[in-house]
Amino acid sequence: MSRRLLLSVAGLGLLSAAGCATAVPSPGDLAAHAGGGGPTPGTPSGRAGTPTPSPSPTGPGTAAAASAPPRPSATPSTRTVGAVNVPSPSLSPAAPQPRRVGSPLFSLPSHDRLVALTIDDGPDPANTPVVLSILQQYGIRATFFLIGENAARQPALVREIADHGHHIANHTWTHPDLRGLSETTVRDELQRTCDLLHTATGRAPTWFRAPGGDWSDVSLRVGAELGMRPMGWSVDPQDWARPGTSAITTRVLQAVGPGSIVLNHDGGGDRSQTIAALRMYLPVLIDEGYRFTAPPQ
Ligand SMILES: [Zn+2]
Repeated sequence: MSRRLLLSVAGLGLLSAAGCATAVPSPGDLAAHAGGGGPTPGTPSGRAGTPTPSPSPTGPGTAAAASAPPRPSATPSTRTVGAVNVPSPSLSPAAPQPRRVGSPLFSLPSHDRLVALTIDDGPDPANTPVVLSILQQYGIRATFFLIGENAARQPALVREIADHGHHIANHTWTHPDLRGLSETTVRDELQRTCDLLHTATGRAPTWFRAPGGDWSDVSLRVGAELGMRPMGWSVDPQDWARPGTSAITTRVLQAVGPGSIVLNHDGGGDRSQTIAALRMYLPVLIDEGYRFTAPPQ
């Protein structure tokens, strides 16, 4: 089946008037830095993959394994896990580190208990509304990395996500591994999604994420040319693999820290475990004083 045909069926095939900016936007008060958040499979089709530990001292790589011990009830100052648990002064918001062009943002430059929740691979007509309801319940704003062909099938849902105050970001058109693709194909994957999201929401996305976190020089450059910044993650509970609600919950709670960018999925099939885990770990984090943010658009 040609999913792209669905775009035309949806009447969204000719969107040349809309699109992403052509200049790299200002990073604002967030300075991206390399490190942290290794690649993850993150594909709804179940593509295998192995998380890669971060080489950076500022990032923990992926979340702890399912066999890790339960979350300790230690005070914040004694916790030893987290994306920026021992942040470098250079990551202070007051002294942002100059952004290297094309370098993904893997964690927020925050010393405070600030977390960015990111939801990938939607929109999904069954899962996304439930996730939106949960986030609304807790007053949390998140970033949704949408797959273009899914968004083309659910344009009303795209607008609903934006209407809830969440940020809409670009997760390519078909969720391919970008590393082996030609520049033309990479540009098509990103540009088409930019155009669709811009048309659906009235606003071009300013962040993009490579499927599986599999960045390439070409994708980073093309994304920048389209006016988007790359965002990775620092906490990956591997929820895409459906390891169980308790495993997802434990992995998030064990790995999260000030400045963490958490990866969850609302697309790719049955996400009941992810949804149940959100209901488990979000109130815990709130009780611990965490606040949630979506990096500025
Ligand atoms: Zn994905």
